[in-house]
Amino acid sequence: MPERLGPMMTTLPPVRGKLLKDANLAPYTWFRVGGPADWLFLPEDEADLAGFLKTLDPAIPVTVLGVGSNVIVRDGGIEGVVIRLMGKYWGSVEAGDDLTLTARPGALDLSVAKTAARHGIRGLEFLSGIPGSLGGATRTNAGCYGQELRDVLVGLEGYLRDGTHVAYRGPGRAGNLPEAQFSYRHSDLPNDLVVTKLTLEGSGTGAPDAILAEIEALQARRAETQPIKDKTSGSTFANPDPPGTPNQRSAWKLIDAAGCRGLKVGGAQVSPKHCNFLINTGDATAADLEALGELVRAQVWDSQGVKLRWEVRRIGRIKPPLP
Ligand SMILES: Cc1cc2nc3c(=O)[nH]c(=O)nc-3n(C[C@H](O)[C@H](O)[C@H](O)COP(=O)(O)OP(=O)(O)OC[C@H]3O[C@@H](n4cnc5c(N)ncnc54)[C@H](O)[C@@H]3O)c2cc1C
Repeated sequence: MPERLGPMMTTLPPVRGKLLKDANLAPYTWFRVGGPADWLFLPEDEADLAGFLKTLDPAIPVTVLGVGSNVIVRDGGIEGVVIRLMGKYWGSVEAGDDLTLTARPGALDLSVAKTAARHGIRGLEFLSGIPGSLGGATRTNAGCYGQELRDVLVGLEGYLRDGTHVAYRGPGRAGNLPEAQFSYRHSDLPNDLVVTKLTLEGSGTGAPDAILAEIEALQARRAETQPIKDKTSGSTFANPDPPGTPNQRSAWKLIDAAGCRGLKVGGAQVSPKHCNFLINTGDATAADLEALGELVRAQVWDSQGVKLRWEVRRIGRIKPPLP
């Protein structure tokens, strides 16, 4: 069983924000499962975060969580410090004089899309389809309706684990931050990067009411096809072929063909509505969800010879069985 960091943690640096011991993480994830963080840090602002990272014992692991719409936190919880950048300061979105917006990583993608719309900026409507935060979207290069974050992201700032500040700036819409090496649902940003500020750029202008109406239409369409009211985390597996591939294979079709729609392990189920979504029917554990995902992978492999890649991030410690 992995060692808990208990005694060592008494040396955590002083902070202005909140630092909570053995904090239950399940309420902070869409699946509503998972064990506690040894420590949960809610920084007050950028200086609080930077100071903490600079002085934190380098042996203590740090994990960032957004709104938990793309993760399974395992039942044994997360070692070290989990950082959440939420609240008014971390959720701010401001429109510039041009087509740009500056936002903090805790801003919900929907709120970014709506702020852009209210300022008559077009091109960010697709973000309304992604229920996460901008910080999470950066890590996963989130996307839908034929667009991805990389198409609109022109600037990025953050801090590495040792507190070093980093900034990436693209040359505009065509540049797309080469350092980030974005690809389908993936970025090659440093693993220890905590994103703290983002600049996005729209593609043109339009009447705010018309753009807001488009956002509403996109959301209505999504509610019809996805179990968005369930405890879920969106697409479990990445499509084997990226968007634009001729005859693109989609994960949900492979899962359906493998006979997995509605399949259950404990309290976890393959959504009957959209079979690339796993759902917590009420009393699922993270272990149920992970075991179900692995069962789906095995059935798709056995029936069609395709190895599905987890898109949902599984983080933390596996809970050891009772002795
Ligand atoms: C109903 C539903 C529908 C969905 N539809 C889509 C879709 O159409 N397209 C799509 O791409 N995704 C979709 N998702 C998945 C999810 O919403 C996205 O991946 C989203 O971008 C995750 O953001 P989050 O804030 O929830 O991140 P989390 O799940 O909390 O974290 C995801 C990853 O981002 C990292 N991270 C979070 N914040 C930061 C930060 N500040 N700095 C550095 N790293 C950070 C975390 O460490 C983790 O590795 C869907 C999810 C649900 C529940």
